[in-house]
Amino acid sequence: MGRFKLITKAISIGKVTEKYPFAPLEVPEGFRGKPVIDPEKCIGCTSCSNACPPQALKVYDLGNGVRVVHLFIGRCIFCARCQDVCPTGAIKLTKEFELATLSEEDLHQIVELQMVRCEECERPFDTFRHLLYSAKELQPWEREMMLLCPECKSRRVSERLIFARGGGRHV
Ligand code: SF4
Ligand code: SF4
Repeated sequence: MGRFKLITKAISIGKVTEKYPFAPLEVPEGFRGKPVIDPEKCIGCTSCSNACPPQALKVYDLGNGVRVVHLFIGRCIFCARCQDVCPTGAIKLTKEFELATLSEEDLHQIVELQMVRCEECERPFDTFRHLLYSAKELQPWEREMMLLCPECKSRRVSERLIFARGGGRHV
């Protein structure tokens, strides 16, 4: 291509550079920036932490009846798997991409959720919100045992089975 043609083409294309960082940069729809958890919507179900490849999301129980959902942006690879699997739409990737900071604290988000204690052994086993969320999927016989932890529940089921087979006569 001749020099004249090249210059004409360059002029016809117009400006292709951005003024960023001197002016805000518009990112396209669907841009995967900083994930943020809505503490009002989160039910502490652990789906996001199970799906997060670099373990930027962790869900753990403190032992005092509190479950923690902990997001550390420093490990995030912005893959959006957490957003895809979250059943309540509590975690979303925003358009925010300027994440440099002088304080590591800015890279953490912590959501604390109250847990339910097993009515038999009193061990905290699930969050109130997750229990209520799952209740609608349960069969009537399962609802009857929804306040039991998994261990106490399976013991109760085994006892019923033994009793139903006549084993109850010997207990
Ligand atoms: S965007 Fe990907 S890496 Fe970041 S928290 Fe979500 S699942 Fe984890
Ligand atoms: S998947 Fe959603 S609701 Fe479940 S713990 Fe993660 S953010 Fe909370």
